[in-house]
Amino acid sequence: MTEKVLIIGSGPAGLTAAIYASRADLNPLMIEGMERGGQLMITTDVENYPGFSDGIMGPDLMEQMRKQAERFGTRIISSDVTDVDFSEQPFKVSVGRETYNAESVIISTGASARWIGVPGEDRLRGFGVSACATCDGFFFKDKELLIVGGGDSAMEEAIFLTRFASRVTIVHRRDEFRASPIMVDRVFDHQRIDVLWDSVVDEILGDQLVTGARIRNVKTDEVTDFEADGVFVAIGHTPNTKVFGGQIALDEAGYIEVERGTTLTSVEGVFAAGDVADKVYRQAVTAAGMGCQAALDAQRWLHDRS
Ligand code: NAP
Repeated sequence: MTEKVLIIGSGPAGLTAAIYASRADLNPLMIEGMERGGQLMITTDVENYPGFSDGIMGPDLMEQMRKQAERFGTRIISSDVTDVDFSEQPFKVSVGRETYNAESVIISTGASARWIGVPGEDRLRGFGVSACATCDGFFFKDKELLIVGGGDSAMEEAIFLTRFASRVTIVHRRDEFRASPIMVDRVFDHQRIDVLWDSVVDEILGDQLVTGARIRNVKTDEVTDFEADGVFVAIGHTPNTKVFGGQIALDEAGYIEVERGTTLTSVEGVFAAGDVADKVYRQAVTAAGMGCQAALDAQRWLHDRS
C-alpha cells in the first residue's frame, strides 16, 4: 500500500498539516514520534495562540489539535522514524523493521532547544526555567532574570525580557559575545542589562520555583549564588533532522531548506513545515500556518501528478 501523504512529527505544524490533509480526503498517516506534541508539551501557559482568550496549557492545546486531526481520519503511529529513502517514488519511511511507502511526505519534526544540563534545570523547567522569552517573559513582571548564552538569540531575548523584568543579567562563558555587533551594542547601551563574563551556571537553585543560580567564574573559579526569579537558556536550537541527512538539502545549521515562501524542499514531493525549516519565528502559530501550507502544497503536487 502506498500512502498519499505521510506526515512525520506531531507538533503544531504536523497536526495542522494532518487536519488539512485529512479534510482534503488524503487520508494521511502520521508518525508522531516518541516526543508526541513537540515543544508545547513542556510549555505551561500559552497566552499567544489566537482563539484562547484565557490562555491554554501547552499539552491541552496539543491534545485538542490531535483530536481534531483524528476526527477527520488521520491515522497516528506513536514511534520515531528510523530511516528514510527519498531517492525514488514511492518514498520509503521506516520505523524500525516496518517500512511505509508514500507518494508525498511532510516533515515537521521540529527543533529542540539546547539546555545547559546542570542540576535544577530539568526539575524547574516551567517553574522559572525557560528556553523561550517570547513564550514566558510575560510571567516575570518586575522580576530579576538571568539569561545564559552569547549569541544573537541571547541578546534578542535579553532585550525583549527588559520589557517585563526589572533587571536582566546575561551569563556568558567567554569574555566576548558571538552575537552580531548591532545586537551587542543594544545590549551594552541598555540600562537594565548586565553581563557576567567568563561565567557558567553550575546549578539552578530553588525548591518549587527558581530562586537563583550558582555561578562560577571559569577564570578564577570563584563561585557565587546569584538571586534571580527566572533563568532563560538561549544557547541555540538543534533541528531534528538527523534521520534526513543525505536525503534532502539542509543548511549549514542542519535546518531543512525550503523554497522561500513555500514548503517545497530539494526533493519534489517532500515538504517541510515548522521549526525544522524555520529558525527565525519558531512560534506555535507560525508552525501551524506552515503546516497548513505544507498540506496545501502536497495536495496541489499530488493533483498535478495524477
Ligand atoms: P549561537 O549563535 O550558536 O550562539 C549560542 C551561544 O550560546 C554562544 O554564545 C555559545 O557560546 C553559547 N553556548 C553554547 N553552548 C553553551 C553551553 N553549553 N553553556 C553555555 N553557553 C553555551 O545560537 P543562537 O544565538 O540561537 O543563534 C542561532 C542562529 O540564529 C545564528 O546564526 C544567529 O545569528 C541567528 N539569530 C539571529 C537573530 C537576529 O538576527 N535577530 C536572532 C536570533 C538568532 P560561545 O560563543 O562561547 O560558543
